[in-house]
Amino acid sequence: MSKQVGFIGLGRMGEPMALRLVAAGYELVVYDVRPESVAALTAKGALAAASSAAVASAVDTVLLSLPTPPIVREVALGAGGVASGSKVKTVIDLSTTGASAAREIAAALAAKGITAVDSPVSGGVAGAVAGTLAVMVAGPRALCTELEPMLAVFGKVFFVGERPGMGQTMKLANNLLSATAMAATAEAVVFGVKSGLDPSVMCDVINAGSGRNTASMDKVPRQVITRKFAQGFATGLMYKDVRLCLEEAEAAGVPMSVAAGVRALWARANEELGADSDMTAIVQLIERAAGVEVKSK
Ligand code: NAD
Repeated sequence: MSKQVGFIGLGRMGEPMALRLVAAGYELVVYDVRPESVAALTAKGALAAASSAAVASAVDTVLLSLPTPPIVREVALGAGGVASGSKVKTVIDLSTTGASAAREIAAALAAKGITAVDSPVSGGVAGAVAGTLAVMVAGPRALCTELEPMLAVFGKVFFVGERPGMGQTMKLANNLLSATAMAATAEAVVFGVKSGLDPSVMCDVINAGSGRNTASMDKVPRQVITRKFAQGFATGLMYKDVRLCLEEAEAAGVPMSVAAGVRALWARANEELGADSDMTAIVQLIERAAGVEVKSK
C-alpha cells in the first residue's frame, strides 16, 4: 500500500497514533476540528487538510479516531465528509462505535465504492504512545493483510473476522470488562480504606492474588492513590462503551445482569462527575458516600 495516508481525529488517542505513523515513515494528511491538534502533527511534517473530504481527496486510505458513533457517521458520510472525497478507497475506523453503527456506515460507504475496516484499539493513551495497543481488525481478509504492517505501528494486530462490526463487538466485550474492573475495584478499595486498610497494601495483595485486574494493577495505584486522575480516557466515552455493549447484547439476545449494574454506576459518574472527567474518578462517587478518600497512609 501507499505510504501516504489520511488521519482524522487527533485527540488523546489519535494524536499519539498519528505521530507514530509519521515516525514510521508514513506521509500523513490530517484533519481535526481543533486547530491546535492539527498543529501538533504539522510540526512533525504532516500535511493539514481543510476538511474530512479534503483528506479523502488527497489519499486512498483514511484512518478515523473520533469520539462517538454520531460523529463517526457525520465525518464518514455527512456533508464535507470522507465519502465525498475523490480518491479514498478504504476507511479504517479506530474509534469505538459498536457493531451496528459500523455495519450501517460500512454499507453506506460500500455504496460509494469505499471499503470500511473496523479497527478499534485497547490499551489507553500510554499504549497509543508506546505502540502497545491491542488492535482488533475486521474486514476483507486480503485487505486486512495488506493493512497489517501499518496497523502494527499501533501495537499487536488481531484479525477477528471478515464481517464489518466484528472488531467492534470484540472491543465492546473488552471494554465491558475494563469498565467492570474499574467500578468493582473502586468499591473494593473504598471498602478496605473505610475499614482501616492501606490502599497501596491492598493493591499489592490483590495483584498477588485472585482479584488482580487492570484497575488494581494500573489505574488505582497510578491514578487514584496518587489523586492524579489522569488516565486519559473520559468518563463519557467509557459510559458510551458500556451502553453500546448492553444495547448490542440485548439485540443479540444475551442477558447481562452484571453489566446492567456497571452501566448504572457509569451513568451516575457521567451525570455527577461530568462526561469530560477522567474515568478513574468514578471512585469519588463511592468515596463520597463512604466519607473516605483512597490515599496512601
Ligand atoms: P478525544 O475526544 O480525545 O479525541 C477525539 C478527537 O476527535 C478530538 O481531537 C476532536 O477534536 C476530534 N473531532 C471531534 N469531532 C470531529 C469532527 N467532526 N471532525 C474532525 N475531528 C473531530 O477522544 P479519544 O480519547 O482520543 O478517543 C477516540 C476514540 O477512541 C473514541 O471512540 C474512544 O472510545 C476510543 N478509545 C479511547 C481510548 C482512551 O484511552 N482514550 C482507548 C481506546 C479507545
